[in-house]
Amino acid sequence: MSGGGLRVATDRDRCIGAGLCVLTAPDVFEHDDDGLVTLLTPEPPAGLVPDVRLAHQLCPAQALLLTDPRPDTT
Ligand code: SF4
Repeated sequence: MSGGGLRVATDRDRCIGAGLCVLTAPDVFEHDDDGLVTLLTPEPPAGLVPDVRLAHQLCPAQALLLTDPRPDTT
C-alpha cells in the first residue's frame, strides 16, 4: 500500500483550540489565527498515520474525524 490510506477531516465547530493535535502531528494539523485547527493534508502519508491516530485519541473535543480505507476483498 502506498501512503497511509487514512483520510482526515476536522470539525472546527467542535474544536476548542486545545492544540494537542498540532503538538502531536504538526505536519498534519495547524492553528489558524483564531486558534482553531486547520488541516494541512487530508491524506497523510503512512509515516504520519500513527501521530494522526494519537492526535485523534487525545483531542478533548472529538474534533478530528478519521476514515479508514475499506479493506480489499480480492
Ligand atoms: S486537539 Fe482537538 S480541540 Fe485541540 S486544537 Fe486539535 S482539533 Fe482542536
